[in-house]
Amino acid sequence: MADNAGIAGNTGDIGATVDLAILGGGSGGYAAALRAAELGRSVVLVEKDKVGGTCLHRGCIPTKALLHAGEIADQARESAQFGVNATFEGIDMGGVHKYKDGVVDKNHKGLVGLIKSRGITIIEGEGRLTGAQQLTVGDTTYTAKNIILATGSYSRTLPGLELDGGRVIASEHALQLDHVPSSAIVLGGGVIGVEFASAWRSFGTEVTIIEALPHLVPLEDEANSKLLERAFRRRGIGFKLNARFQRVEHTETGVRVFLEGGENVDAELLLVAVGRGPTSANLGYEEAGISIERGFVTVDEYCRTSVPGIYAVGDLVATRQAAHPQLAHVGFAEGIMVAEHIAGLPVVPIDYAGVPRITYSSPEVASVGLTEPQAVAKFGADNVKTVTYDLSGNGRSAILQTKGAVKLVAQTDGPVLGVHIVGDRVGELIAEAQLIYNWEALPSEVAQLIHPHPTQSEAIGEAHLLLAGKPLHVHD
Ligand SMILES: Cc1cc2nc3c(=O)[nH]c(=O)nc-3n(C[C@H](O)[C@H](O)[C@H](O)COP(=O)(O)OP(=O)(O)OC[C@H]3O[C@@H](n4cnc5c(N)ncnc54)[C@H](O)[C@@H]3O)c2cc1C
Repeated sequence: MADNAGIAGNTGDIGATVDLAILGGGSGGYAAALRAAELGRSVVLVEKDKVGGTCLHRGCIPTKALLHAGEIADQARESAQFGVNATFEGIDMGGVHKYKDGVVDKNHKGLVGLIKSRGITIIEGEGRLTGAQQLTVGDTTYTAKNIILATGSYSRTLPGLELDGGRVIASEHALQLDHVPSSAIVLGGGVIGVEFASAWRSFGTEVTIIEALPHLVPLEDEANSKLLERAFRRRGIGFKLNARFQRVEHTETGVRVFLEGGENVDAELLLVAVGRGPTSANLGYEEAGISIERGFVTVDEYCRTSVPGIYAVGDLVATRQAAHPQLAHVGFAEGIMVAEHIAGLPVVPIDYAGVPRITYSSPEVASVGLTEPQAVAKFGADNVKTVTYDLSGNGRSAILQTKGAVKLVAQTDGPVLGVHIVGDRVGELIAEAQLIYNWEALPSEVAQLIHPHPTQSEAIGEAHLLLAGKPLHVHD
């Protein structure tokens, strides 16, 4: 491993000369740093805030802690149906934050220790690309044979809709609220909007989601969206589909959102969850000749930018070959791939359709591979087959009292093309589904695998038995 002991940090005009300099220490940036250091490269990792980035501090981890607190609240409320006497007395938001922040802090400390233990130097400060082989932080310039841009993304809003951090907020503000809002409007029924709607409902908030497209989680197979919508209706989560935001007004008690068509909705606050934009402005990217489209750095299948030697990973990038999911594990995978590519190892480009996707609401929505319309578009309707296995036939799901289904999309007489699941805790099942999709397994091959009883994973096995023409726990 290279010796980085001479790198002092942002203290002088001429910084170190290293093998690799990375701008941004989120999922993509730090994964690249760890793998590159493992491969013997000297690495500086420039981070203006905290390593771990959005995912650890404002994304994946804190939101899932919030959702878990919500799950505990729901279990307390519903305990009687399991014969357990417990009383739900309310949410102590201070206590929720203590738990959530404890999880984040522990992970952050672990990550900092891990990065340092690999000999990587963290440079604290805001960096800029100042040449094909140069990053500048303050008045110190670091020279590197290769550079990785990993500056991530920010919460977008709509034209004319200003985030004030009080009544009109983004996800980072929502994670810091010191109380449970009595009511909330969530603008955007994608993953982030749906997760906050779910957590807040568990905490007791009256929630209305406004989604411009015909379904919640609109990138999912429609079957998944419909099952989630049914479950949300049961939970009393309101949603308006095909509803377009027009404007928002402040009222005495909160906000009033006006929709196109004249309808309006009142609530204590408005969460804007309309997507994440790339953090690429004023960082010297364009001046250095990096090609950018709609703010995203465009990369090839190895995450190479238009400038030789400079790569980009994570939420910042748009890939030419496929839609690029903004997910932490995509950032990890790209970071590892780039570090290996730089080291001259043989690497396989990422199949973005094969990336597992989970919405951690109650119930969870999980999928991998192609949706039915995508499969039909690729192979033709006559060559695509689907089956749906209802979780009502699954013992473990009955124990957990959760509803949902596993839908499989397959090529007729060919491999499985997509797995789509809804139900509490089904997110964990998508790891097996990922193997099935990525190894192009045939239904008959999966049908041969034995799933432990009673688990929810049996639903994956049962769905494949059904697809292979030998259903077990399925009524005719
Ligand atoms: C509310 C929410 C929930 C989410 N939940 C999930 C989930 O459950 N699962 C999942 O897979 N994904 C989830 N995501 C998405 C996930 O967080 C991102 O895909 C992931 O963080 C992207 O990693 P990245 O490295 O590209 O960018 P980031 O994590 O955004 O990291 C970029 C880093 O660069 C730093 N930086 C930016 N500019 C500079 C500069 N000029 N100088 C120095 N440093 C700079 C930033 O401070 C930041 O630390 C969630 C996101 C949000 C917002």
